[in-house]
Amino acid sequence: MSVEIGEELLRVEGLSKSFSIDNGMFQKKLELKALQDISFSVKRGETLGIVGESGCGKSTLGRCILQLLKPDHGQVLWMGEDLVPLKGEEMRLMRSDLQIIFQDPQASLNPRMTVGEIIAEPLRTLRPDLNATQRRERVIDMMQGVGLRPEMITRYPHEFSGGQAQRIGIARALINGPKLIVCDEPVSALDVSIQAQILNILSEIKERLGLTLIFISHNLSVVRHVSDRILVLYLGRIVELASGDDLYQDSKHPYTRALLTAVPIPDPKRARQRNIDGLVGEIPSPINQPSGCTFRTRCRYAIELCAERRPPLEAIEGDRLVACHRWREIGVAAIAGADAAPLRNA
Ligand code: SF4
Repeated sequence: MSVEIGEELLRVEGLSKSFSIDNGMFQKKLELKALQDISFSVKRGETLGIVGESGCGKSTLGRCILQLLKPDHGQVLWMGEDLVPLKGEEMRLMRSDLQIIFQDPQASLNPRMTVGEIIAEPLRTLRPDLNATQRRERVIDMMQGVGLRPEMITRYPHEFSGGQAQRIGIARALINGPKLIVCDEPVSALDVSIQAQILNILSEIKERLGLTLIFISHNLSVVRHVSDRILVLYLGRIVELASGDDLYQDSKHPYTRALLTAVPIPDPKRARQRNIDGLVGEIPSPINQPSGCTFRTRCRYAIELCAERRPPLEAIEGDRLVACHRWREIGVAAIAGADAAPLRNA
């Protein structure tokens, strides 16, 4: 089945994932709710950014989409087919369409294999029909496509910089001609100057090969650079989903607004108190989440209702989504700075 540019390629429906945490030898296990009732779709040729603080569930979501983790509930519909029930050979065949680029390029490459062997590895598994010469030609093509010289094919990962290692990871992800790549914090381990190079490579190959990307990052400015639409996660739930322009010009959720107004703090003591620029206080434990709106313990607009009832994820203004009781008022100058003090736990 083929899907045209702009048509739905992936749909995630009601996806939830929890982990059991040991709580001492004689204690009942604790349940960590990593993702709760996640639904969204991705069109072919689109880049969907997924943003949120560390621990919000974004990497778990990427792994559930690729079936590297099996969700507890929900569906992951790939061109209409649910991937969740697939196992073994059926899932292995799907892997050529679905790839991942990892955060730490050096750690994700086998130090005992040459660059040529690393990039060719997925071909050996999924294209056993190719001979050694054909595999080598494909590998060299991929290397040149990401700015690596062919003579590097016999070198080992430790001989490369972080940026070059990430290029190897991208070439490996591309070798089987995938349709969708999950980029899981692909530049967060790299120097700022190298980040721009890797983002430009991803944008260029996306256009050249008609790829669809899911781009995961804690850094909203990086996500903005590459994404058509952006999904904001907080404690395992979607709090806002909008086009990049809408989100940056007129975000509706206080959490998104806090991420956007982030500014670097020169005072290291104060900086340490913040999980992320612009937000004061710790993200609550996913094991013991606040009642109602889970963002209420850090939200300057929180009112009593926020502790009593979880805001539904509402469709607003076309295909935008937001989960906030007060989204209509957010952004109106009258409540900014003059409204309710944050509620601190119920
Ligand atoms: Fe803040 Fe209430 Fe909206 Fe949650 S529902 S983001 S606490 S105003």
